[in-house]
Amino acid sequence: MSIQKNLLSIKAALPANVSLVAVSKTKPVADLLQAYDAGQRIFGENKIQEMTDKWQQMPKDIEWHMIGHVQTNKVKFMAEYVSLIHGVDSLKLLEEINKQAQKHNRIIDCLLQVYIAEEESKFGLNEEELIEIFHYVQSQGEAEQSNANYKNEMKNIKIVGLMGMATFTENQNQIKKEFQNLKTIFDTFKQLETFNLKLETISMGMSGDYQLAIDCGSTMVRIGSSIFGGRS
Ligand SMILES: *Cc1c(COP(=O)(O)O)cnc(C)c1O
Repeated sequence: MSIQKNLLSIKAALPANVSLVAVSKTKPVADLLQAYDAGQRIFGENKIQEMTDKWQQMPKDIEWHMIGHVQTNKVKFMAEYVSLIHGVDSLKLLEEINKQAQKHNRIIDCLLQVYIAEEESKFGLNEEELIEIFHYVQSQGEAEQSNANYKNEMKNIKIVGLMGMATFTENQNQIKKEFQNLKTIFDTFKQLETFNLKLETISMGMSGDYQLAIDCGSTMVRIGSSIFGGRS
């Protein structure tokens, strides 16, 4: 099947409230352009250098999502253009994103990555660390409201949701449990609201498990191989 056919058939089956990130990591620009010509405007990459190269070569009405683990010292290379950073997993990283966004006079949307898998290798925050970040961001927001002179430290980021990756396993029940866990955490905190914090997006689900993720409440799926074919 062609990239265009893959994309259109996946899109046709997605509920209206679920957005599709076409994960194009390792794929050449020619492949991305096929998806672009079929109407796709959101692309996900997991390496900042590769994403920046593609951003330079591709049409400018694309939303670029960083879906991989982000090293603090590389944020500056994408701060000018990145639309959404999925894998924010520390306050230190959030502060760096804020700082780099400020330099470009932008607000960068972020998802906090929550650790839901049973694997050691997956990045992410536990619930306690998540709460710590929410409290910090909220206290910044309140301080700003109560004092006109207060210099807000976090006014160039916005936390717009959560992201999670399930364990790499065939066990559907396990995956379902992990997705449900992320949805529960999302629901616990979705009433929080400050100028830079409002949970609206749950990014979960990849080629192998996105249907299950949608059943569990995903609003954003990240699909690579089912669109572009396997990666070597
Ligand atoms: C590669 C990747 C995907 C897409 O994986 P596929 O199985 O090819 O759909 C989704 N999310 C993240 C974080 C990835 O690194």
